[in-house]
Formats: sequence, structure tokens, C-alpha cells
Amino acid sequence: MIAEEINLKDKLREVFGYTQFRGLQEEIIDNLMAGNDTFVLMPTGAGKSLCYQLPAIIRDGTAIIISPLIALMKNQVDQLAALSINAQFLNSTLSKAEITKVKKGVLAGQIKLLYVAPESLTKESNLEFLKSAKLSFIAIDEAHCISEWGHDFRPEYRRIRMMIDLIGNMPIIALTATATPKVQIDIQKNLRMENAKVFKSSFNRTNLYYEVRAKTAIKKQLIKYLKSHKGESGIIYCLSRKKVEEVYELLKVNDVKVAPYHAGLESQVRMQNQDGFLNEEIDVIVATIAFGMGIDKPDVRFVIHYDAPKSLEGYYQETGRAGRDGIESDCIMFYSPHDILKLEKFNKDKTVSERDNARHLVQEMMAYSASGVCRRRLLLSYFGEVIHHDCGKCNNCVYPTNKFSVKEQIIWCLETAVNTGERFALGHIVDVIRGEKTSYVMSYGHDGLATFGKGKDNQTSYWESVVRHCVVFDFLYKDIDNYGVLHLSEKGKSFLADPYSVELSEEHDYSKVSDDEDDDKELGNFNSTRSHDLVLFEMLKGLRKKVAKQKGFPPFAIFQDPSLEEMATFYPTTEDDLAQINGVGMGKVQRYGKPFLEMIQKYVQENDIETAQDVVVRSAINKSKTKIWIIQQIDRKVDLEEISEAKNMSMFEVLDEIEHICYSGTRLNLDYYIDRIMDEERQDEVYDYFMNADTDNLPVALEYFDEDYSEEELRLMRIKFMSEIAN
Ligand code: ADP
Ligand code: ZN
Repeated sequence: MIAEEINLKDKLREVFGYTQFRGLQEEIIDNLMAGNDTFVLMPTGAGKSLCYQLPAIIRDGTAIIISPLIALMKNQVDQLAALSINAQFLNSTLSKAEITKVKKGVLAGQIKLLYVAPESLTKESNLEFLKSAKLSFIAIDEAHCISEWGHDFRPEYRRIRMMIDLIGNMPIIALTATATPKVQIDIQKNLRMENAKVFKSSFNRTNLYYEVRAKTAIKKQLIKYLKSHKGESGIIYCLSRKKVEEVYELLKVNDVKVAPYHAGLESQVRMQNQDGFLNEEIDVIVATIAFGMGIDKPDVRFVIHYDAPKSLEGYYQETGRAGRDGIESDCIMFYSPHDILKLEKFNKDKTVSERDNARHLVQEMMAYSASGVCRRRLLLSYFGEVIHHDCGKCNNCVYPTNKFSVKEQIIWCLETAVNTGERFALGHIVDVIRGEKTSYVMSYGHDGLATFGKGKDNQTSYWESVVRHCVVFDFLYKDIDNYGVLHLSEKGKSFLADPYSVELSEEHDYSKVSDDEDDDKELGNFNSTRSHDLVLFEMLKGLRKKVAKQKGFPPFAIFQDPSLEEMATFYPTTEDDLAQINGVGMGKVQRYGKPFLEMIQKYVQENDIETAQDVVVRSAINKSKTKIWIIQQIDRKVDLEEISEAKNMSMFEVLDEIEHICYSGTRLNLDYYIDRIMDEERQDEVYDYFMNADTDNLPVALEYFDEDYSEEELRLMRIKFMSEIAN
């Protein structure tokens, strides 16, 4: 047991360069290594990936990682490649030859992690292949996709268990960052993992600063904020595409390195903007909520909600994309009562029950925004987690609203909950206290209760706030299976036995703030506690970007921000020193360390405060511009000769580009051109060949047809085939 413990820590250090496991990681890994089913609920940024990556590296055979998005797979495969770990994915972006290669690698036991989408898992040929491979275990990442109650529900996910049963018996680890019990139960049932050991950590993201402020003079505030956070990565969420475009234009003219992201943009453009963000060509993405699920950028320093979100679930998910690397980051929401009207308009076309549900979610969000209670306590309480102290790192803690003491009022709330049989939600309890003779109150005879009408002197909103305080302070708790029904907690019981004064917070009144009034309080606060050498840090960041570009990885795959901050604190100048930095390790020192050490050595010697050199190399971005241009030309059915002339490229170079586009998953329709140069019969013959061939290798095809077809013809048909079959 002890030997294995040492072993795990050594591996952690050797492969990932981390000195310690975080939170429950070690216990989770132990459980999985012992061959047990494992269910992991941890918030974003807690380090879930390591829980399957490390066992996959240690155990014999290949681990299958089921992941919902190609971008996510690529992200992880890149990061693992930077650590010299053989991980691959199997999905529609691969050519036949690449697929064959990956499968060979698995069968030969060389590939430690194989990422697949659930759709690929259900393919007959893949199933057969997986049956014959030696597999270590199956991991299901983003497992909330299984649940209809999860925010990213994917129907194919519900068939995973069936597929696993077909492949064979092996341990399963499911991981999700969704905290709602309903989703958890649904996932476990569907995966038949009711007996799995569940590891649930707190969902508190201690490095995030939560702030809600009135949406006044928002453009001015936003630009001021971005100016003081130049070069930091951030996401700004808007509710509509129109708003995204508007904010994007505003930031662009203010010299922010910014790009838009929404469903109305062509997928190629979206992909390019996303890549630009990952590669640090772009600092800020303005997006609808469509953005973010597919990326794991660890150093997002702020998430701003330009418009109020539709629900707290979504809000927590979106803000969770900030600060995955553990460095302090801001989550700022601008709130306006007008936004609520807009949200309600969105719901107009929904069915009655959908509309009720949506309205309920919006009301919870409004209550959160208005509340003067510690935001962290509010958020966590909404997800059923109680914390007993104010956090000190949210705008309600830093700039508190007025406080007032109550005792009797709390007693009334708790007694009403108890005397109505603990069978009602907030609305009804408030009705009883206020003495409203609603049909429910009357039909249950609740007008006869001792607390009926006790609170008629205060408004509904006042009482709603008091009851919500009771939940956050853990006097009452919400029933998980029975949406919103309030029960008396243990703490509530002892309060009733021996009541005491409780301090409540006044609500914010956002209607009072005038439109052009600027909030003079500092927006956000993540910079306040940083103490490293900012100049050196920026230099190292620049270097990292350059190295990343050379290696073809995103910058965070080389070193993450916390490692750079440590370097800019401890100034390591030898390989051994550098290996001591958390997240570095000897492996990375040898692969990437040299230029970083040189930079630090020079900096230390000169001790000269110099600004970072501009290390941007522009070649890659130009390349992708060409690709986009080619896609546009093909959409307009421009002949390939014309394209090659216009770009001064040879026909083969144009075909190279097109193949690259096609193999990275974009569907291209070249029929207009192919029909012109080949008749139907000839097309069919080549198409059938690729359909039945074992490989899409060009020399093999040329040899097979023995000069009956030109290279250009074969390549064009291969693109057509790939576009139709694989993409
Ligand atoms: P999640 O999937 O839970 O959102 P990730 O797996 O992306 O989180 O990990 C979040 C960050 O934490 C990553 O930057 C990762 O490198 C880092 N990390 C994970 N485990 C450790 C550890 N034991 N020590 C230090 N950093 C870690
Ligand atoms: Zn707080």
C-alpha cells in the first residue's frame, strides 16, 4: 500500500511535474487502480483529467476516454503530447490511413489514452476493434451529457453503457462538473453505476471573485476594465448574436485583440477565432453561450456577463471557465431589470410548463443578483452546499449592503414551514406570513395558522429575502427530489429551541441607478494579491507563446501560468531549480527549459526592467487566412485553376490546402469542378475504389489504376469521398 503511494506521487512528479495531489485526486486514482467503478463530481478546474490520465499512464493497455467534442479531445491530446505521452483520438477528422495507424498503435499497446466520441464508439468497425484491444478502463468525461437534466444533453450518450457491455468488462470512471443531485442520480442510473464509489468535492471555486453590478455606463466600464487587464485572456457573454457583434465592434475600435463567436458565423470562422484565443493571438472572445464548452483554456482571467444569464446553472458553468489554473480571476455580471424583460420575451413561444420552468430559473437568478448576501454562499447554497462563513472575495463581502437584525421574523418563517407540514416552497410560505388568501392557502386552511398574516406590514420581496436568507444560513434546506420544498434543518431546530438575533443584508436596488452614472468602485479584483515580477512574467509569457508556436502546441501545453508566476517569483537559473517549479518537472525542463533558463539568467544578470519583445510570428495566421479564402472561393464555385492563379500557387499546392481543410473536418463540395473534368463513369470507378480500399494512400491508388487516372483526378475524388463519408 505504502509502496504504491510513493509510486503514484513519483509518477505525478515525473510525468506532470506536480509535487502534490489536489483534493480527492489520490483517493480517486487509488479506487480506479484497484479496479473499482468510480464516480467523480468536482467543479471545473479541480483537476478531473488527471484522475484518469495518471492511471492510464501507469496501467497496462489503453484507456478509452469518451469525450463530447473534437476540440476537447484535441486540447487534451496536445497537452499530453507536450508531456511526451502517447494519446490519440479516433474521430471523423482523421483520414483512413490515420485511423489505421491509431488502431495499430492501440493493438501494439503503444497508445495509453484513446479519445473517442460516443458516436464513434457505436460504429460497428470500432466496436470490433475495441473488442480485440487490450483496454485498461473506460473514462466518461463531461458525464452530465448523459442526463436529460444536464445542460449539454446528447442522446448518443445514453447508449454508452450498452457499448461498454459489448466491448467487455472493465472499470468505469465517470466525471462531471455538474453539481445538481438530479443530474447525478440520472447519470448513475443510466450507466448502471449505482454501486460505484462517489467522490464529491466542494464546488467552491475559491480563486474566483464574483461580482454583480448595475448595467450603467457599461461600455465605459468595460473598456476601462479591459485597458487595465491588457494581454489577459477573457470571455464576454452576451445574450444575442446582435449584441455580440455590437460589443465586438466596440472593443475592436478600442484596440482590444478581440474576436466574436456565435452560431451565426461560419464554422470555419468560429474555429479560427477559437484557435486564435487558444494560441493567444486573441485576448478576448465576445460570445453567446455557445462558446466555451469545447475549450479548456486554463488561464482565462475574467468572464464577464454583459447581459444577465438565463439561469444560475448556466451562470455557474460559464463563470467556471475562468481561472482553471487556480490563479485569481474575475466573474462579473452586469445586471439590468430590462434584461429580465428581454429574457421573458425569449420564453414567449414556449409551452406553458417550459415557460414556468424558465421563469422559475430567471427568478432565482434575479434573487441572486439582488441579494446582499455573500455571493459565494448564495451560489453554493443554490447547489445544495452550505458554507458557514462569508468569503471576503465577492462584491457583497467587499462592499457590503446595509445590515439589519431580526429574530422573530426568522421564527415566523421556520414555524410556517413546519406548520404547513414541510410540504411547500418559498412562495406559499411568504403568502401565509403576509396573510394572502390565495386559493392554496384557503384550501389547506393555512389561514388558520398562528403565523398567518404576522408579516403583513412588509412587502412580498422583503419576506422572500428573509426566507432565502434562512436557506443560505442553513435554517431551512431545499428538498433535492421535490423541487423547492423547504424543510427544517438541524440548525433550524436548535434555533427554534433557543432563538437568537440574526444579521441579514439589505437587497440591492438596481432600478435606482441612473443610466449614465458610473460606478466608481473598482470593477473586479483579481490583480490585488499578485506579487510576482510582472515584467519577467510578461517576458516569459511571450517566450512561451513563441515556443508553443514552434512546437505546434497551445501555449498552456508548454507551461501554465502558475508555473510562469513561480518562475517570476523564484528566478530559477539552473535546470535543477527549474525542475522544482510546480508543473514543470525534469521532462519539461529537458524539452522546453533552455530558452526559459537563458531568459531568466539574462534578466537576473542585467536586472534591467525592459518590456517584453514582440515575439509574434505571423506565418500561421496567414496560412489559415488562405484556407478561409479557398473555402469561400469553393462555395462560390470558382474553378481551381482560377484559385491557383489568383494565389500564385501550383495546382498541387491548392490541392494540399484543400486536403488539409477537408481532413480537419470541413465539408467541401467540389462537384462543380469535378463534373467538368471527369465523366460520371470515371468518377464512380474511383469512388468505388476508395470505398473498398484499405487505405486512402495516394501512391497505392496511383499504382492500382496504373496511369488510367491523373494524380489530380485521384486527389479530387479522394476529397469528394472524404467530404461525403467522413465529415
Ligand atoms: P477539470 O477537468 O476538473 O476542469 P483540469 O483537469 O483541466 O480540471 O485541471 C485544471 C488545472 O489544474 C489544470 O491546469 C491542471 O494542469 C491543474 N492540475 C491538475 N492536477 C494538479 C495537481 N495535482 N497539482 C497542480 N496542478 C494540477
Ligand atoms: Zn462573499
